[in-house]
Amino acid sequence: MTRESVAHKATRYLAEARLTVLSVAGDSVTAVCRGTDGVYSLGHQPARGWYCSCPARTGDCCHVLALRLVTDSRAVTEEAATRLAAAVERGKQSLARAAAERQAGITRIGGMP
Ligand SMILES: [Zn+2]
Repeated sequence: MTRESVAHKATRYLAEARLTVLSVAGDSVTAVCRGTDGVYSLGHQPARGWYCSCPARTGDCCHVLALRLVTDSRAVTEEAATRLAAAVERGKQSLARAAAERQAGITRIGGMP
């Protein structure tokens, strides 16, 4: 797996709201992430570093990267930040579109003779 696809997956997980940060206290972070095969526990402990319960068993899987993107400013590379901004923008646009469609529906119903 290339680094780019991990970064892409991480930002997609964020855009799809799969990551839930449970606690942040100093250098200790706990979170859960809904992955392809279940919900994984992940986080950071000063003595242990970054960890994740997913099958990858590495400290830099897409779940950990997603968590680091929102809790560890050092993880935010320019490329990841650009992807994240684009994902957030797409999310905003689809929300705005849905709201506009809802509004148009209400207007049509309200404007009927
Ligand atoms: Zn993982």
